[in-house]
Amino acid sequence: MRTERLTTPDWIRDAIFYQIFPERFFNGDPGNDPDGVWPWGDRPQSHSFFGGDLVGIVKKLDYLQRLGVNTLYLTPIFTAPSNHKYDTEDYFRVDPAFGGNAALRRLITELHDRQMRIVLDGVFNHCGKTHPFFQDIIARGPSSPYWNWFTLSGEQVVYKPQPNYVCWAGVASMPEWNHRNPDVWEYLLSVVRYWINEYKIDGWRLDTTEYLPPDFVRSVRSAAKEENPDAYVMGEVMGLATSWFKHDALDGVMHYKLWEGLVSFFAKGEWDAGQFSNYLHGIWKSYPKEANYTSYTLLGSHDKPRFLTLCNDDHRKFLLAAAFLFTFPGVPAIYYGDEIGMRGEEDPDCRRTFLWNEEKQDRNIFGVVKELIKLRTEIRALRRGEFVLIQAEEAILAYLRQLGAEKILIVINTGNKPVSVKLPASIKENFYDLYLQENTSSPIEVPAVGFRILRCSG
Ligand code: CA
Repeated sequence: MRTERLTTPDWIRDAIFYQIFPERFFNGDPGNDPDGVWPWGDRPQSHSFFGGDLVGIVKKLDYLQRLGVNTLYLTPIFTAPSNHKYDTEDYFRVDPAFGGNAALRRLITELHDRQMRIVLDGVFNHCGKTHPFFQDIIARGPSSPYWNWFTLSGEQVVYKPQPNYVCWAGVASMPEWNHRNPDVWEYLLSVVRYWINEYKIDGWRLDTTEYLPPDFVRSVRSAAKEENPDAYVMGEVMGLATSWFKHDALDGVMHYKLWEGLVSFFAKGEWDAGQFSNYLHGIWKSYPKEANYTSYTLLGSHDKPRFLTLCNDDHRKFLLAAAFLFTFPGVPAIYYGDEIGMRGEEDPDCRRTFLWNEEKQDRNIFGVVKELIKLRTEIRALRRGEFVLIQAEEAILAYLRQLGAEKILIVINTGNKPVSVKLPASIKENFYDLYLQENTSSPIEVPAVGFRILRCSG
């Protein structure tokens, strides 16, 4: 039965995500490195390994806590041959090169001690070809008990010239599970339950949600909530996610539709503020209001070029987009390294090793991002307030975040000239600039490619 409104965990509204690609964040234990790791800092290729691991994340928790993020999303960590680990071999074992299950246990304990949370990546559309069940059908054909767990044409697995089994995007190393088989559901749902129950993870991100049957996705969410009613289940959804929410299948999505708008407006400058606000209105109204506050909003991920690179290395544009992300409804996420100005083209280049040498980091970007996180953390209206559009014309976007008596005004100028923004007569306030820490009044002076974040003080 559909409930009246989508019910989602309350904590997600206060979350600030940090996405880590564990192979590239920090190598905390060279003793567990796979053979033939590349020197840290080299440009990655699709097959390269650098030795990052979960021990490395534990060692950098002080850094993350100082940055101000409070929830980690890790790309897959279970045993798999590739560096990205979307080709799972064992759903119940953390990859030994990441430190195994013990390293995850330690990471979660340390996170929870710091009131931080963790969401893992569930790859339930497909496994890797080294998964023992797929290996069993290679060995035994139709007499394997797992024969109906995959979808083959023929009685023997054939890889070339084309795989004769259903696999993700035609990639032979990733055979798809046959979700028509209830045994497959039971197996995958046992994975969902296991890591919540035994390791107390706080939620799942579902890989390639759009490839999965909606009933299965809904069952993942139900199973997760049965183990922990506060578990958060978000989907990787590239298109509009409207139907997923209609079917109560997810708590939120990775908001790639918003990301597209951010690229067009902030990075590429293809739209003016009017076009951007029309676009925002369209996607805002396509989802239940609840889902707009619980979806994961991002500038970057392991599947997209770095946002700074999309901005053609213009720091000001990157920071405008960041200012928007941290003052807009939704759960803002930082892709590891975006906060220090890392660059990168399409995958695998957007998966470079983290630049830990501070002299090579962009400390200006770091300082602004850290301040935006701090404002988001301190001001409840930025997390939970209503969104009220004030002005969207040419280069100027102005909006309020309003919660009870608290009103925060954000004014963004994407133009190359400073502007003086006259507010509508309805806003007769005095303002305190939360960023510059000074009083101001209308008209609001906004620098070229700049922003103001102002508390309205009546
Ligand atoms: Ca290592």
